[in-house]
Amino acid sequence: MKRALYPGTFDPITNGHLDIIDRSARIFDEVIVTVAVNSSKQTLFTDEERVDLIEQSIREVLPDSSNIRVEKVEGLLVDFARKVGAVTVLRGLRTLGDFEYEMQMALMNRRLYGELSTFFVAADERYIHLNSSIVRELARYGATLPDLVPDCVARALREKMGRD
Ligand code: ADP
Repeated sequence: MKRALYPGTFDPITNGHLDIIDRSARIFDEVIVTVAVNSSKQTLFTDEERVDLIEQSIREVLPDSSNIRVEKVEGLLVDFARKVGAVTVLRGLRTLGDFEYEMQMALMNRRLYGELSTFFVAADERYIHLNSSIVRELARYGATLPDLVPDCVARALREKMGRD
């Protein structure tokens, strides 16, 4: 079984992430979206909320994708990969700015677990400039977010910002 991991913080999930998930689920037998929990990063949404929003978004936007699951990962991704028998990590690449950090992570993961290969998926041009922090910033100022996040995420952001 070709199983791939798609790791991230997803604070919150955006249409850019969902595009990568959709493309990958057409190629791999199973895609596990792994949500980094209890990491040192301060997040707007709690671990549970981020997982819930990913699951809701997948139901909303990719209803036919029965080969996608969502898991929390605490600790190193390589340990999780070994545990579930995955040898592929997927990462989205937007701009050159992503490249250096992504390459560093990919090489470090491979050093820790030689079997593990990172595949880079080119972002859709509509989402090149989209990331979770821009989405949080827009929501903070009450901007509407059509085409950037699924409806369930837009709703959750409004609630979080006390605008509902
Ligand atoms: P991390 O904290 O691990 O970078 P993110 O949730 O920010 O977590 O991103 C997870 C993955 O999704 C990364 O590979 C990132 O490059 C990719 N990604 C983020 N935004 C987009 C986007 N708009 N289009 C494609 N890939 C994206």
